Amino acid sequence: MEIIVRFKSFFSVSNLIVFAMMIVSYMAMIYLSAAFFMVGNIAILWLGNGIAIALFLVCSPKRWIPLALGIVAAYFIGVYTHFGSFEFSQIGFLLANVLSVMLAVIVFTYLCKEPITFIDLRQNILFLTVLCMLSALFNVIIGAGALWFIAGIRPELSNSLIWFVGNTVSIFASTLTAFHIFRSIKDKTLSLRIDKQQLFELAVMCASTLLILVGVFGREHYNKFTVSLIFLLFPVAMWVALRFNHYITSTWITIVFLTCGFYSTVKLGPFIFMFNDLSYAIFYMQIYIFAACSTALLIGTINTEKETKTQMIAQLNKQLDDLTKIDPLTNIANRRKYDESIKIALAAANSEGTPLTLIAIDIDYFKLFNDEYGHLAGDDCLISVANVISQNLLRANDIVARMGGEEFFCILPDTDSKAAIKVMQKIQASITALNIPHKVSPIAPYLTVSMGACTGALSDNIDAMRLYKMADIALYSAKEQGRNTFSTVKYSEALV
Ligand code: GH3
Ligand code: MG
Ligand code: MG
Repeated sequence: MEIIVRFKSFFSVSNLIVFAMMIVSYMAMIYLSAAFFMVGNIAILWLGNGIAIALFLVCSPKRWIPLALGIVAAYFIGVYTHFGSFEFSQIGFLLANVLSVMLAVIVFTYLCKEPITFIDLRQNILFLTVLCMLSALFNVIIGAGALWFIAGIRPELSNSLIWFVGNTVSIFASTLTAFHIFRSIKDKTLSLRIDKQQLFELAVMCASTLLILVGVFGREHYNKFTVSLIFLLFPVAMWVALRFNHYITSTWITIVFLTCGFYSTVKLGPFIFMFNDLSYAIFYMQIYIFAACSTALLIGTINTEKETKTQMIAQLNKQLDDLTKIDPLTNIANRRKYDESIKIALAAANSEGTPLTLIAIDIDYFKLFNDEYGHLAGDDCLISVANVISQNLLRANDIVARMGGEEFFCILPDTDSKAAIKVMQKIQASITALNIPHKVSPIAPYLTVSMGACTGALSDNIDAMRLYKMADIALYSAKEQGRNTFSTVKYSEALV
């Protein structure tokens, strides 16, 4: 029974999909490598393994068996359809490809505990050392061993080194771009947001890259001066690394490798000029491009990490700053925030010519409340009053701040005294509706507040201090009138 269940789950639709995806992409890479990068019977860029590694990393380990089977199937079909036969010795290469990919992926995922993104330095160093170099080393050891064992062919050390370098750069050239594409498809996260200035810079960068690739690498005739133009690739690599994101950097690396690989295959480029032996030319071309592009990749990663950290620190600083402006008991603004907000509101009122209202609110007989019900109940009461006031301030720029004790101030931009009276009526009604018992209050059996408002207009040339004093005077007047009420004063009235 158990076996049947496992058998069924192995042939699940998702396993079949990843199996098919591996076959299609690996075969596409076999055809691409065979069509553009064959020197004799050796592909100088063998792109299948890079794509395979990317698929392994995007899928969870429970898909690794169907993925490995996908490589086997793609290898058989691809080699058979392209070369017309499948020699027995090919089994060595097949083994080398499947095992080197799987072993490298296992070592990489073991060492890389966090989610794989390839946008931090550690992961990109692991990418270069484990996924590119170690898997190429596995490939050579397993492949050469199998060839020797199966076909009795013993590869020379120099050929094995060329094999190792070729494998390293093939994975380097294709894995990151493939990984970012596969992951974007899987997570549906591909975001190509780019502003006008970036688009312009991207266009200039693409044009420069094209010029260098075609103009420098695609030439047939060189002299000892024009050959030094290969250095131009370095500044462009740094530019890409420092100014563009990981999608563009990895795509750039892929394009550079494919183009230079193609030119070398058709015997063009500065390295062909420098070396009589084609395999040496390709070998040095690969090492040069690998050095330029891997430096760019690492510098780009360090830069991205630095930018992310700077953003994080700025965000944390902002959060910290916000925290210092919040009253810890009621969670509304405190005096610091009030001081900051009143300045902004005044500047807006004075520049736009709109009225500005300040309402002072004070709980009636709160000392008696505390004495009767205790400080904890008093604290709860402050929280409820703060919430009620906030709920009655509907505009985005309205602010209520606890100024200390049981006093609250509301800043209401673009609000005249008529509107202020409406707000105060609403607050009074809501406080009454709260119906917090206050049996020792001389004026009502429930908790009440008194309020005072002052509205300044453009002609008043409003000053923050005076507005505050006038609102306080209005509050005092409401207290005088017997509490549980509100009053307003004109900004220009004489101070008493
Ligand atoms: P009035 O109607 O004139 O405003 O009388 P009042 O008793 O409300 O005014 P008074 O200024 O004499 O007392 C304010 C009281 O507010 C004093 C203190 O017990 C209480 N209070 C101030 N801050 C807090 C607080 O954070 N928590 C609690 N529970 N009570 C506070
Ligand atoms: Mg008070
Ligand atoms: Mg009071």
